[in-house]
Amino acid sequence: MDLRVRLVPLEGMEARFLHPLAANVLEVIGGPVMVEPVPLAKKRPGDWVAALGAAFPDDRWVVGVGFLSRGPLIAFGGGRVAVVRADRLIDSDGRRWLSRLMKAVNHAIGRLVGLEACPSDCVMGPVDTVQALDARPRFFCDGCRKALEASLRAPGSPPG
Ligand SMILES: [Zn+2]
Repeated sequence: MDLRVRLVPLEGMEARFLHPLAANVLEVIGGPVMVEPVPLAKKRPGDWVAALGAAFPDDRWVVGVGFLSRGPLIAFGGGRVAVVRADRLIDSDGRRWLSRLMKAVNHAIGRLVGLEACPSDCVMGPVDTVQALDARPRFFCDGCRKALEASLRAPGSPPG
């Protein structure tokens, strides 16, 4: 399985926090996963998806994680870019925060790879609120797992 995901820290996110997220992606989905701390020109909030897409035109999937102060919990764009808002997931319990980030990143990658919303006990369940995210497991259900693997096996198939 070839999953080349670039994780990018944005806006106040330290790159070191993305290493456990990358390890999580490797465990749950596969790799290779890269963590790329890059200085991106500061854009208006909401432009991060476009900025990431422009900064990494050659990466199949790009997921930014940062303290963005505006926008949805996870934003998508261009069929291959997602941005996760770490500020909306923050918790006084650092492990809970990290767990939420892991789930959000796994869900984002699942969406980018082409998985649909899933009614099972699965990371592809609804994650539009922190409460919904807390109720999700970090992993894919069997059905989504199979769909994920089939999608990753298909050559050159990023969703449109
Ligand atoms: Zn599922």
